[in-house]
Amino acid sequence: MDLRDSPSEAAFRAEARAFLEAQPDPEMPDYADDAVDDAEFLSKARAWQRALYDGGWASITWPREYGGQGRGPIEQIIWNQELARKGVGESIFVVGVGLAGPTIIAHGDDAQKARTLEPLLRGDELWCQLFSEPGAGSDLANVATRAVRDGDDWLVTGQKTWCSGGHHADWGILLARTDPSVPKHKGITYFLLDMKSPGIEVRPLRQMNGGAHFNEVFLNEVRVPDRDRLGPEGFGWQAAMTTLMNERMAMGGFDRIFSYDQLRQFAAEHADRVDGALRNDLGELYTWMKTLELLNARIITQLGRGQMPAAESSVMKLLMARVFSRAGDLGMRLSGPGALLRRGFWQNQFLMAPAYHIAGGSDEIQKNICAERVLGLPSEPRQDRDRPFQDLPQS
Ligand SMILES: Cc1cc2nc3c(=O)[nH]c(=O)nc-3n(C[C@H](O)[C@H](O)[C@H](O)COP(=O)(O)OP(=O)(O)OC[C@H]3O[C@@H](n4cnc5c(N)ncnc54)[C@H](O)[C@@H]3O)c2cc1C
Repeated sequence: MDLRDSPSEAAFRAEARAFLEAQPDPEMPDYADDAVDDAEFLSKARAWQRALYDGGWASITWPREYGGQGRGPIEQIIWNQELARKGVGESIFVVGVGLAGPTIIAHGDDAQKARTLEPLLRGDELWCQLFSEPGAGSDLANVATRAVRDGDDWLVTGQKTWCSGGHHADWGILLARTDPSVPKHKGITYFLLDMKSPGIEVRPLRQMNGGAHFNEVFLNEVRVPDRDRLGPEGFGWQAAMTTLMNERMAMGGFDRIFSYDQLRQFAAEHADRVDGALRNDLGELYTWMKTLELLNARIITQLGRGQMPAAESSVMKLLMARVFSRAGDLGMRLSGPGALLRRGFWQNQFLMAPAYHIAGGSDEIQKNICAERVLGLPSEPRQDRDRPFQDLPQS
């Protein structure tokens, strides 16, 4: 493992840092904070995305012909680290730029690319991801939302859930089942969904911190033109894998979004509450965060050698979720007995931490991956791979 940037990585980092330092602070309110006004958040997020676009930094990995910088995953991670250093967290535009865009570039036709990519990159159009369903999360290939051909259109009916930002979105990437008579991975088709289409009902889900940033989305015979089908019929699973691979890359490097120094400073301000147990937990958190840093360096080294990280990403995801939980817990303990009666950074950290154990693949799923790829344990027995979807028991 090489802990230093290579000369070209260092040059890229310096360029990224110089650009970001020249930008005024985006003063983006914390989206997870329920007290934040959605309209204010959205207009600031749009202005920031536009500034990135105007400066040529809206996408690091998209090919140049579509407005990106045409660079690789290492530069994406370095860019995310530099954003975190500036205090800019994950963008609400990540679904468009990091997930939908690369999938459209990989599998879309010329008309789809011409219509979607530029407004998406410029921040004019917001995208959401309509993959998960009540019965399809960890096992995404279980999607039961149906799309039935009707002339030049498809009629889509079903229920999606956990759709982040769906209440603001202009477009969504959607998985639907077009052929239930074949095994479940084969009968899925990928669509681009205009969220203003009649028959879509978006119902916000209230979170325990009071915010409502996720939604259930009900689709009732929504008419989707066939020109908005991405890739061939039945190709949805392969296209979804492109989306999920890009999701991992888009998220990498945000592990340092809050700094240990921030917590240490907070502990110094509340020294009267720092007992032996708390000092011990702070120390443990410090070692976890250092471990994360090293894991990140290892992943960057692998990518630099042209290797794809496998189980390392899962170990990192597990540890990141643990760091978020521990930091929230410590922040609350340091805030004192009245902590739950107030609002603030640590309250949000504490109440949002459980989400990190689920989003992007739950802890248990990451542990399954480690068990199989690191420990070499046999995979779970499965009886649903080769049977038609319609013959599988549905919950
Ligand atoms: C903050 C957040 C944002 C999200 N945003 C979006 C979004 O924008 N769009 C979207 O489509 N989805 C989104 N999701 C959904 C997310 O992808 C799913 O929550 C995740 O894949 C888990 O699926 P599930 O919630 O259906 O849980 P389930 O798959 O039903 O799992 C329930 C429990 O069973 C465990 N489990 C399941 N299978 C196994 C197994 N084989 N072995 C061991 N344990 C298992 C899980 O770990 C979990 O504890 C979001 C989720 C969160 C938390």
